[in-house]
Amino acid sequence: MKVINPVNGLFIMPELGYASLDNAISANTLSFHHGKHLKAYVDNLNKLLPGSGLEGLSLADVVRKSQGAIFNNAGQVLNHTMYFEQFSTSAKPMSDKMNKLISDAFGSVESFKKEFEQKGATLFGSGWVWLSIDANGKLVITQQKNAENPVTDGLNPLLTFDVWEHAYYLDFQNRRADYLSALWQYVDWSVVESRMN
Ligand code: MN
Repeated sequence: MKVINPVNGLFIMPELGYASLDNAISANTLSFHHGKHLKAYVDNLNKLLPGSGLEGLSLADVVRKSQGAIFNNAGQVLNHTMYFEQFSTSAKPMSDKMNKLISDAFGSVESFKKEFEQKGATLFGSGWVWLSIDANGKLVITQQKNAENPVTDGLNPLLTFDVWEHAYYLDFQNRRADYLSALWQYVDWSVVESRMN
């Protein structure tokens, strides 16, 4: 799990390591998705936390212990931070160890990607598709609605694709499945695998 702590009491925006992901996420989408949507979630969370009793906790702990507006904004900050940080224009391939874990769980890497895309494409409404690892070291794919994150189910989240329409509509319009399949080439597995610790 990536631990994200407040800095001087405030959660901060993750920096983008890329200006666009050519075939998947345009600079225009990033300017709205990172620069407007995520910025609003970060600003809202920082306004809501004082006096809530949740000050000083890590972001995942805020998500675990909150409801309502704080949960929605904290969840979206955690989800988007993990989403934006896992992509790179010089993405590292998965390790042999990860390849084996995924192949053991899903049959093959290709079957895993197919199931992940299918769960993303069939999630009704807004939400996220996640790959997580459970306490027994088993990999699972889950659909999470709205601002949900698998940490609330005791899972360790590793990889996520955002399927809110704001993530893809400027580039792909209604073609959510095409957006999902275009993302794989930018997934930096060194980042994903670092979340297992
Ligand atoms: Mn989003």
